Amino acid sequence: MFLDRFKNFKEYKTETTPAKIKLSSNENPFDLPDKLKEKIANEIKKLSFNRYPDPTYKSLKEVIAQFYNLNPENIVLGNGSDELIDILVKAVGDLKNPVMFPVPTFPMYKVSSDVINRPTATFYLDENFDLKKEEIDEALDKKPDIAFFASPNNPTGNSFNPDMINYVAENNVFTVVDEAYIDFSDRESFYKKALKGGNLVVIRTLSKIGLAGLRVGFMIANEEIAKTVDKIRPPFNITLPSQKIAEIVLTEGEDIIKEQINTIKSERKRLMEEVSKIENIKIYPSDANFFLIKVKDANLIHKKLIEKDVLVRNVSYLPRLENCLRVSIGKPEENNLFLKALKEVV
Ligand SMILES: *Cc1c(COP(=O)(O)O)cnc(C)c1O
Repeated sequence: MFLDRFKNFKEYKTETTPAKIKLSSNENPFDLPDKLKEKIANEIKKLSFNRYPDPTYKSLKEVIAQFYNLNPENIVLGNGSDELIDILVKAVGDLKNPVMFPVPTFPMYKVSSDVINRPTATFYLDENFDLKKEEIDEALDKKPDIAFFASPNNPTGNSFNPDMINYVAENNVFTVVDEAYIDFSDRESFYKKALKGGNLVVIRTLSKIGLAGLRVGFMIANEEIAKTVDKIRPPFNITLPSQKIAEIVLTEGEDIIKEQINTIKSERKRLMEEVSKIENIKIYPSDANFFLIKVKDANLIHKKLIEKDVLVRNVSYLPRLENCLRVSIGKPEENNLFLKALKEVV
């Protein structure tokens, strides 16, 4: 009764079919070396699980600041960037005014808005999946207070024209640039602009660079915005073990993570070149750790790949993505097996 309005609620869906080659969730395919994991296990043993963690996350903020060349005062931590999206949707502006985001994009902007019945102002991306001024102007007419731009965008892989993002920010909309995939991109980040203040912030995550299981995301904002958002987040939203593990990985594992990112980028280049040679497949450019392809029959290809123990994300149900599949970059040997399977099924 009290929850009736969620009976037909469209929740966030993920691929759960088990498969040996999992290229469906944009994770880092490489785990950490055993030696580092042993070190982590030893450090975890020393923690007092009966105590609440440090609610200011002083130590983890310092480590993230060091890793990304930021100041701790400009960082707000979230339980994954999903939580930061949720907090911002609930906090920014007048809840009667819409949340603006393009279609297709990352589903959580809509999910978080729908949960609190906040209206949305959506608009279509152009044929290259980029932002288009006329579409943006129509969305702006609906007077949104907050806008989300995932750049590089998920599930399309491309980065957006930065001029259009700036244009929205200049129109008095609180603008959130979701840089979940920026570690794989050679384009300029919006973080410097976020530090300057005003109404633009950046959100990032450790999920795509190898720590998806920890649930650590962060926002980069000028000090004033950062302070305010820090006040309204749940007090202990990052678990004690997650804090500790992230600290160890980003310091002692810094070189490993950066090397893994480079391998993923070179594998992206190699794999995309190979896929683009296959007939009957359209491949879209990518700045992320995944890429999008269009095939003749996505449902069929998706199913046939699963039969060959390869799981990719079927995004063909999303608007504007008919017959599209999203493929995460795996380890070199996984990518080879995916290539072989794909050639056999198309
Ligand atoms: C994966 C993803 C996120 C969520 O990341 P978490 O930190 O794991 O919650 C946010 N935005 C985009 C665009 C993503 O693809």
